[in-house]
Amino acid sequence: MSEACPHSFDDQLLSGHLDHELTQAEEQQVRIHLEDCETCRALFGQLEQMRKASMSTPFATPDDEQWSEKPRTPSSRFFRGTGWILLLAWFIVSLGIAGWTFATEPGHPLIKLLVVSGLAGVGLLFVSVLLDRLRSAKTDRYRRVQK
Ligand SMILES: [Zn+2]
Repeated sequence: MSEACPHSFDDQLLSGHLDHELTQAEEQQVRIHLEDCETCRALFGQLEQMRKASMSTPFATPDDEQWSEKPRTPSSRFFRGTGWILLLAWFIVSLGIAGWTFATEPGHPLIKLLVVSGLAGVGLLFVSVLLDRLRSAKTDRYRRVQK
């Protein structure tokens, strides 16, 4: 997918325009915007291509763009990015707190090492499970469409 529109034009309107689902006022808005925004012209061209490609192939073949890992809109990209940052921050902070608690508490260094590496291991497992979950959620969605 190309760059986001510099005027943050709603790309839903572009696909609506493609599907002829817009009101007259919206159609007008899209046409005017397409005239002076190169980014959206390019995006619209891509949408058109994609639509043609999916029309020529029989149903139940989701196109690559639709199911790719890449977030499809600037806002979903933003939410996903923020989600990962929050998750990572949470993970680091929890690990930091746990580590600090154990480091400041009296105990055998070997025990501390065991606890800290255990926590790190659990954290890594959590992340990998999460990644697998995300992947299988996508696969499930894909399968449901194929039926
Ligand atoms: Zn634009």
